[in-house]
Formats: sequence, C-alpha cells, structure tokens
Amino acid sequence: MGILEVKDVGKRFGGLQALGDVNLSVAQNSVHAIIGPNGAGKSTLLNCLVGKLIPDSGSVMFDGQSVLGRKPYEINQMGISRVFQTPEIFGDLTVLENMMIPCFARRDGSFRLHAFESVNREHDLVEKAEQMLIDVNMIDKRHMQTASMSRGDKRRLEMAMCLVQEPRLLLLDEPTAGMARADTNNTIDLLKEIKETRNITMAIIEHDMHVVFSLADRITVLAQGTPLVEDTPDKIKGHPKVREAYLGE
Ligand code: ADP
Ligand code: MG
Repeated sequence: MGILEVKDVGKRFGGLQALGDVNLSVAQNSVHAIIGPNGAGKSTLLNCLVGKLIPDSGSVMFDGQSVLGRKPYEINQMGISRVFQTPEIFGDLTVLENMMIPCFARRDGSFRLHAFESVNREHDLVEKAEQMLIDVNMIDKRHMQTASMSRGDKRRLEMAMCLVQEPRLLLLDEPTAGMARADTNNTIDLLKEIKETRNITMAIIEHDMHVVFSLADRITVLAQGTPLVEDTPDKIKGHPKVREAYLGE
C-alpha cells in the first residue's frame, strides 16, 4: 500500500472525459513523476487530490484516509501541500512576510490579514520561517519584495512556503515551467536535497525529461486521461508506447 492510493478516478468536463479510471499508487518517501502530453489530464488529477476538483467516480486515499468530500484546507491539514503551475505568492509582500502566511495558517487553521500586526511578537514563528529560508538558501533575500524576483526564486519561495507546513506529501505541478536552465538545475538540486533530508513523498508533474529522470523513482505516463504505463525511469526511457505517445516517435 502506498501513502497515496488513487483508484478508478474519473472526471468529466461536460462532454470531455478528462480522466477515465486512473489508478495510481505512490510509495512513501518516493518521488513519483506523472508525465504526458498537454491536455492528458495531469493537472486535473492533481486538482482531484487536493480537493480543488471532485472526481465523478473512484477513490483517493491518503495514509488510509479518504480525501474525497474534504475541503482543500482540510486536505492540507492532513499533510498534503501543493506547488501550483504558476507561483501563488503575494508580490507586494516580502519573502519573510510570504513565509509567515503558511506559518500562521498551520498554527491557527486559517490566516487573517491582521495577523501581520503581531508579526514582530511572534518570535517562534518568525524563527521557524527564517530557518526554512536558511534551508532553501533564501535568507539573504528575506526583506526583498517578491514581485521583482526571478521565476526561479519565486518558485523556491513557494516551495519553502509548502515545506514549512511540514507536509508528508508534496505535489508539484510543473515546478520548472518557464524557467531558465540555471534555475531549473537549482530546482533539481533543491528537490534532491528535500528528497534526501526530509521524510517527504513527492508526486511531480513535469515536462522536462531531464528533471524527471534526475529525480523520479517511478514514472506514470498519462495519455488522454488514462495511465498508459507505470515503471522505473530506465524502463520508461526504452518503452515503445511511451516513445510513440509521448516523445512523438
Ligand atoms: P494537463 O495538465 O495534462 O495538460 P489538464 O488536466 O489541464 O491537462 O486538462 C485535461 C483536459 O481537460 C484538457 O482537454 C483540458 O482542456 C480540460 N479541462 C481542464 N480543466 C477544465 C475545466 N475546468 N473545464 C473544462 N475543461 C477542462
Ligand atoms: Mg497541466
């Protein structure tokens, strides 16, 4: 049994079957990549895991508990965090202020804007946020406004905002999309470090095969809403169906 068990999940948008009977088992402390062409249903699947979408059929179990019917914040409190396809941070706030949002949310169950009035008194939370910024090599930027940062730094901050919640499952939707090569390589290094130093399971959607093959323990190929094949990176590389459906050969 994996920490995440997806069974026969289906999702329709009107006449479009975005997901049809998806089965997926993600082993604890592994990195499981989900690849597939545009429109394959990868983001839809992730949205079904975090409560943003409700599947029409099937079940999603996390650590033996069903996530279906729970609200996104409840699923988050079960230990699932998600990095979105486009960074969701507040550009007007500094790096440290952004970090405080999940810290407050984790402690109080929700975040209230007036919480900032008391930021200076929240030494324990500030310390926790700063430690995480040290861990991801961003402590020098803690007072920088995030709007002007590079995509790579925004992504790094967003990952730190997820990690500070101490999730057991981290979901990443195209974490290197739109990044320059150097930022992509930094992201690979950061994710490798997370994999080696924290007890976190990761499910990662990724287009860049260099990223996938650098990190994944197992790979599921999704095509037209259905898993085509699931295997180790070595086996996936040589799989004729994958070469045909995904690499366009
Ligand atoms: P991927 O992330 O693999 O590129 P998506 O999960 O975003 O694919 O989309 C799968 C299919 O579902 C696509 O055909 C997309 O247009 C469609 N789709 C996704 N979200 C919606 C939505 N909210 N309403 C209608 N159609 C959607
Ligand atoms: Mg997508």
